[in-house]
Amino acid sequence: MSVSISAQEVVKKYGEVTVIPNLSVEIKNGEFFTLLGPSGCGKTTLLRMIAGFNSIEGGEIKFGEQVINNIPAHKRNIGMVFQNYAIFPHLTVRQNVEYGLKLRKLNKEEMKKKIDHILKVVKIEEYQDRLPERLSGGQQQRVALARAIVIHPSVLLMDEPLSNLDAKLRVEMRGAIRDVQKEVGITTVYVTHDQEEALAVSDRIAVMKEGIIQQVGAPYKIYTRPANIFVATFIGHSNLFKGILTTTPEGTFVKFRNGYEIQMDTLVEVTRDKANVIIAVRPEEFSISDKGINAIIKSKTFLGKYVNYELTFDEDMIVPGQPSIEYSQDIGHAERTYEVGDTITLVPNKSKINIFTDD
Ligand code: ADP
Ligand code: MG
Repeated sequence: MSVSISAQEVVKKYGEVTVIPNLSVEIKNGEFFTLLGPSGCGKTTLLRMIAGFNSIEGGEIKFGEQVINNIPAHKRNIGMVFQNYAIFPHLTVRQNVEYGLKLRKLNKEEMKKKIDHILKVVKIEEYQDRLPERLSGGQQQRVALARAIVIHPSVLLMDEPLSNLDAKLRVEMRGAIRDVQKEVGITTVYVTHDQEEALAVSDRIAVMKEGIIQQVGAPYKIYTRPANIFVATFIGHSNLFKGILTTTPEGTFVKFRNGYEIQMDTLVEVTRDKANVIIAVRPEEFSISDKGINAIIKSKTFLGKYVNYELTFDEDMIVPGQPSIEYSQDIGHAERTYEVGDTITLVPNKSKINIFTDD
């Protein structure tokens, strides 16, 4: 039986070093939930606490209503898939999948039925008598997945399961993992540092930085309404401009440093009457106009559906330290493209910009 997972004020220390200071999160039964964040932010640490391989220094973790802090890993009924496939090289595909079930002492008939079913679900039926060395990386990862779920675990935990695969296979396999998860309906905690992968597979994502959850939400919400600048720049690209937010009886306005002003609707929660803010604009949320903010095209990359321009703005307008400022032109809707050295005038789509206080 699949269960929900609840972490309440969880603390993790390695010796004197606190890696997770105080983390709470609720993962729903049957949900595909992803921990996303840069390398070293504590994703694996948290996953291993859920699995029972790491001690918990504070707070509690529950499976359903049951506190599991002191339940050893082998009694938590979890399925795990790691980056390195961890399947047995001397056993065939079928024997690998069977392995977990043998430990559970099922009768032969029952066992056969379960294995046949799972081999079909992960689409490796036709390779069932092969040894792993004769499988591709993607097929090996399907075996690992089959072995993890054939035991009907309460939760499925996956730690960067696709990072050893090449780019094309990664895309194919993330679709496969998502389909299998939906078919078996098991609560899944998935760890990745790849934001594109997280957006593609997850029901919800927790974005982590330095052991602290920055935002939890559905992929679309996280991308379109990031909670802070870290999320806005870690998930996809955001261009950051310096701005001033003012409220007048006529409404709320956000002003760029060159004087260009946008009247906001109800999207902005105004905390102060007049505040320094950071305006975050996605590269695809600009359009060309005759009034707006001027930029010079520094480089141009043709990407098929989009042309991506790297831009130079007046230094005073932008938040310093950004790797690049970009405009993605959807050429399906463009009358013309531009060349390096051209000056263009851009208008941000006001319903899609995000505004953060500049502290
Ligand atoms: P992630 O999976 O997000 O890359 P980890 O959970 O592996 O991050 O690591 C989080 C932090 O904890 C890192 O700073 C890492 O160096 C540290 N860390 C991880 N495992 C151990 C360990 N066994 N002992 C000491 N420090 C560790
Ligand atoms: Mg890790």
